[in-house]
Amino acid sequence: MLVKSEGIVLRETKFEETDKILNIFSLKYGKIHAIARGALRPRSPFIASSQVFSYSEYTFYKGKNFYHISQGDILDSFYDIREDMNRLLYGTYLLELIDSSIVEEEPNEKLFKLLIKALSILSNMDDDFLKFVISFEIKYISFLGFRPFLDNCVMCGKDVINDKLRFSIKQGGIICENCSNLEKTSRYMDGAMLKYLKLLLYTSLDNLDEIKMPKDVMIKLQDILVQYILTCIEKDHFNSLNFIKSIEKNGGA
Ligand SMILES: [Zn+2]
Repeated sequence: MLVKSEGIVLRETKFEETDKILNIFSLKYGKIHAIARGALRPRSPFIASSQVFSYSEYTFYKGKNFYHISQGDILDSFYDIREDMNRLLYGTYLLELIDSSIVEEEPNEKLFKLLIKALSILSNMDDDFLKFVISFEIKYISFLGFRPFLDNCVMCGKDVINDKLRFSIKQGGIICENCSNLEKTSRYMDGAMLKYLKLLLYTSLDNLDEIKMPKDVMIKLQDILVQYILTCIEKDHFNSLNFIKSIEKNGGA
């Protein structure tokens, strides 16, 4: 039976002589493994629609082990992401976040739309990458069902005092001074960081210009968020993020 869905290629792997196996995040079927037969042949009709970042309307049929792509019509190749080192680095990280966390064949429309929107914004982006990435991360983890509790103490429910709060990765939210004595692994957070974190959660990715925030706050927030995400999705690192960090250490991209 032929089925159709929009999808975006998260990862491609060469398979046999001329085929590719693609990890596709599809709107209707969630993450699927799909084989593009002959995609590595020079005149293959799948050349464009089988590249990482390609956003296409796919026609599949389901085989024994894989979905098989019978047609792929490009909606957006996000070619401009490949034209700039920072766009490519951060774009690769966004795809890794999605690829390493979503469950196979479980659709997530909100997350799908977030990814498409993020990639189109990233295509035209020249600076402020970190703010954009943090805003993506907090939305992403919320759409996966792990939205952190940011209103009052996640452990006792009491209001938190701005300069005496912490963030508990284990409990998934802010905690008050009292509870921080019980939760020793919690991380430093202050009122300003919390304010920006909420802003980044609730502001749409295309309105981030409205938020002016200090660089050191971004770095601290991202550090907490990445740890939180890794804990939620039970991973210990992201290859693409380690690569970005190693480049930054050596003087930037
Ligand atoms: Zn508390």
